[in-house]
Amino acid sequence: MKRVWVSLFLICVLSIGSSAHTSLIKGARSGNQDAAIKTEKVGGNIYVLIGQGGNIGVSSGKEGILMIDDQFERSAAQIKAALKELGSDKPRFLFNTHWHGDHTGGNTIFGADSIIIAHTNVRKRLMTPNSGGREFKPLPPVGLPSITYDQGLSVHFNGEEVRAVHYANGHTDGDTVLFFTGSNVVHLGDHFFAGKFPFVDTSSGGSIEGLVRNIGELLKQIPSDAKLIPGHGPVSTLNDLKVYHQTIVDTTGIVRDKMKTKSLEQIKKEGLPEKYKDWGTGFIKTDAWIETIYKSYSTSMTNPK
Ligand SMILES: [Zn+2]
Repeated sequence: MKRVWVSLFLICVLSIGSSAHTSLIKGARSGNQDAAIKTEKVGGNIYVLIGQGGNIGVSSGKEGILMIDDQFERSAAQIKAALKELGSDKPRFLFNTHWHGDHTGGNTIFGADSIIIAHTNVRKRLMTPNSGGREFKPLPPVGLPSITYDQGLSVHFNGEEVRAVHYANGHTDGDTVLFFTGSNVVHLGDHFFAGKFPFVDTSSGGSIEGLVRNIGELLKQIPSDAKLIPGHGPVSTLNDLKVYHQTIVDTTGIVRDKMKTKSLEQIKKEGLPEKYKDWGTGFIKTDAWIETIYKSYSTSMTNPK
């Protein structure tokens, strides 16, 4: 079980590309093309930096830079180069949407200049060895959020309210969604893997039920013409989020139905209907998604094998 989650976590922290981009900025001191950061304007003050790890949201304006997530420590030089193009490589504020290393790895670098803000459980997990049942080296104080909240908070910056709202027990137990209320952009963190099956980190307090519930709430709250930054994948629309939500609901239903009479191995062998094929080509392959559902809804060890 533990091994499965370790491998799922590794899958989670691998990079994903995007087809759309407006410029390509490489770190001046890096010849590594894989570490390239693509900068794309999303709307209003907001940009997205797409590279290795989770998508970075950036507010750029007169008051400076506010950043959401910071990928990996090794990418910090490239991220700084991209930020400099947007005004400054020293963000005033840095939000962590959740604790995973592909979203917080740069904290130790950016924390020297930025105020890091996150949900209470993000700070707790970043301070805890073996967080989420995995081997994890706690971050030094410079990399820890200095402002934390249980429900949410707002930062008034670059002419708009940036509203951070906690959604409980979805991808993890510390997820935040950021609403750029003037720019009409929402950063959903890893609640949203655009067009792909989600990674649900049950060992960090995440759950499929929570994810479905939270996305259902978000579908009601997000304006229909908003631009959405997913944790992984290209900038998306509310309709894309609707389809993602329905896909999670439908595939969970299919697997749960099969679980009444079939073993995990049988269900994996049968797979999911052809129309979901592309959903299993991201971090979470179809087999891993089936396994997540199966284990989430197995109520006892006496389930059929
Ligand atoms: Zn994650």
